[in-house]
Amino acid sequence: MCRNQANTYSFPMKAPFDRVSLRDRTRDDLYELIAEGNELTRPELVVLTGMSRTTVNQAVGRLVAEGRVAESEQKHKGPGSGSGRPATSLIAVANGDPVVGIDFGHNHIQVAVADALGRPLGERYVEVDVDLLASEAMDLAADLAITLIAEHSLGRPASVVAGIPGPLDRGSGLVQSSTILSSWVGLAPAVELERRLGVPVQIENDAILGAVGELRAGAGRDIPNFLYVKASHGIGAAIIIGGHPYRGTSGIAGEIGHTHLSGHTEACRCGNRGCLEAVVSIQAVRDQVLHTHPNAHPGDVDLASEPDEVTARILIEAGRIVGRVLSSMCDLLNPEAVIIGGELGATGPQFLGGIAASIERYSQPATARALQILPASLGIRAELVGALQLAAGLARR
Ligand SMILES: [Zn+2]
Repeated sequence: MCRNQANTYSFPMKAPFDRVSLRDRTRDDLYELIAEGNELTRPELVVLTGMSRTTVNQAVGRLVAEGRVAESEQKHKGPGSGSGRPATSLIAVANGDPVVGIDFGHNHIQVAVADALGRPLGERYVEVDVDLLASEAMDLAADLAITLIAEHSLGRPASVVAGIPGPLDRGSGLVQSSTILSSWVGLAPAVELERRLGVPVQIENDAILGAVGELRAGAGRDIPNFLYVKASHGIGAAIIIGGHPYRGTSGIAGEIGHTHLSGHTEACRCGNRGCLEAVVSIQAVRDQVLHTHPNAHPGDVDLASEPDEVTARILIEAGRIVGRVLSSMCDLLNPEAVIIGGELGATGPQFLGGIAASIERYSQPATARALQILPASLGIRAELVGALQLAAGLARR
């Protein structure tokens, strides 16, 4: 490098201060908050943004005049509202194109269409072996999306977000692991789905989508720092820090399903033995329940209903094993909550109780004291709701 060049470098002229574009940006920022939140008030916007009351009032006034925001009849008092009269709630108006969310599980596909704010209008759930049938799974997801759009007489979607249950290279868009999603290796799901649907598609890890779903519309609404765990046919986690997902350097942060468990030798789909999700998964728990209930038929195993003593013990032990892995993550990140989603998260208090017991036992006492263990309030729809919320956010850009 020629040092003289540095001496002759001149800084680019600053763009002239543009009061109009600054006002537009303030208005767009506030609209984004209102669209993501639920019935925010002007005083709450002042607290959330740090903007002055005058700035917020002027921007909200313009949003209402433009028809992008409506004032709700319902009144409530929130932070910053003081002792005056209750503040009017503000609701974003969905006046844009619809969006589509797709959730590929290891053994199912969920598809939903939603309005421009990501509020679901129609959904489909189909069981299919997604791991082994990549091309067929994407054909089916595209067909379901097209059918739902037609059924609800909607126009061309503005954006589509799809979640996959495995690591995705955010740079190349390719599925990273040949061992976790066997028939998806080398595929670029975004390109494949765009070809089938004719609209832009963004692919995300499914646990990230579940975390976003719970953050925007579930148990994590008022919790800026939490871990989300999707405990289903695999085990995946997502990290929310300061109200945003943390993805890591290449997009695989939270991939805890293949953490090795000392003393376990169960064969895992990744080729190793003793991985967390080889020991604990909805299928492994069902297999244990069938093993201990010889007269039960596979179709009879309903883990969401009140379990008998043996099934309760199996669920508690499964929770303890997951909690042992989570205890290290909790010490590392000191989150306010761990939110448990997926089919195992929806089984009830035994699985969550097992997780809580291990975190209590193995985390630092101060870490455990600060922590709540919560079920995903959206249940097994968390990933789908997260996909719709992200798709609506993309459409607003
Ligand atoms: Zn593994």
